[in-house]
Amino acid sequence: MRGRNPIEDLAHLRHEFGEHGGVNMSIETSSTFTVIDPETMPDLFQGRAGPDRGCYLYGRHFNPTVYNLGRQMAALEGTQAAYCTASGMAAISGVIMCLCNAGDEVVASSAIYGGSYALLHDFLPAKSGITTHFVDISDVDAVANAITDKTRLIFTESISNPTLRLANIPRLSALAKESGIPLVVDNTFSPLILSPAVLGADIVVHSITKYISGASDVIAGAICGSETFIGALMDLHMGPLMLLGPTMDPNVAAGISLRIPHLPLRMNAHSQRALAITARLDELGLKVTYPGLPHHPDHALFEELHCDEYGYGGVFTLDVGDEETANALMSCLQNEQRFGYLAVSLGYFDTLMSCSGSSTSSEMSDEDKDSAGISPGLLRISIGYTGTLEQRWSQLQAALRHTGLI
Ligand code: PLP
Repeated sequence: MRGRNPIEDLAHLRHEFGEHGGVNMSIETSSTFTVIDPETMPDLFQGRAGPDRGCYLYGRHFNPTVYNLGRQMAALEGTQAAYCTASGMAAISGVIMCLCNAGDEVVASSAIYGGSYALLHDFLPAKSGITTHFVDISDVDAVANAITDKTRLIFTESISNPTLRLANIPRLSALAKESGIPLVVDNTFSPLILSPAVLGADIVVHSITKYISGASDVIAGAICGSETFIGALMDLHMGPLMLLGPTMDPNVAAGISLRIPHLPLRMNAHSQRALAITARLDELGLKVTYPGLPHHPDHALFEELHCDEYGYGGVFTLDVGDEETANALMSCLQNEQRFGYLAVSLGYFDTLMSCSGSSTSSEMSDEDKDSAGISPGLLRISIGYTGTLEQRWSQLQAALRHTGLI
């Protein structure tokens, strides 16, 4: 599926000079900005002047370097606008706080990152009376049944963390439109692979910390949507980004903008390596889940929705039965084989692995983990592209033998 080519849009945008003719954009570090004409100040405060007209007010509102990265994120996701935040969680919470008032409801996928789950399940009800109905996002009828007249948005990950189910974005989008509410998609697992906004989502969020950064060295996020929505996030009276202040540092924005040009190469490398390794694990009869494998329950839908140039992503899971075996395998892979790191997160150039039930999904109750399909021995592996395939495969095989799994 391809409606537009984000790479062409990005290449067009990149052709922008730094302040002194530099080939990279300049970094604007000022926290406050002058106006030449005093009349511009009230215009800025009343939203009549803004960054689209080259007018800046204060760094927590808009910053030129962060704004430029936002334009790149908008090009990546095919939205009118985007703005970047200090983390993926700041992006998600900002969107929800912008769309909901006290007493409103969210319908969300039950299989989402543990932090997003805790935000919706624990934090928001306690702090603001915003409550969430969690549903199996693959069951669009269940999603429809959960919508009430208080529902203000549907929230899902494009590929669920860690269960790797694919949301049927076109069907969810049709339902959201019928219900008059926006569909918000967290596309952290699949930049370029899936384009949720092109498939019908209204708002796309990212943890830039993962693939877009690619080096596990920054925490960052982004919100991509309409110009009106991005403006609402920055409203001086009611905008959650403006008022809660999860601002991205301009130095971080400049660094990230230098990584977006090679994101396509990196996504391709992650996906190729993941497909080769999971196909071999599958042949050995291990319980491996990866959307690129033909028996994955959403493989056919993936074929329909994804951009095939970038494959199926770099994350797969391996269910080894129990936590003890999972820990023994990870320990051998890290400490003896040097296959990767026992660490949370994903999208790094090296391999990262964690046992989801006791780490990034530990915020969920055992019952909720069970119904989301997160078993105690489920290992989430974000495959890196360093080393060679054969080197990594022999390390993995050795650890599987050591743990008695093959
Ligand atoms: N969304 C997903 C799918 C994630 O996996 C994560 C973090 O692991 C987040 C959001 C939160 O991002 P951040 O750590 O940048 O706040």
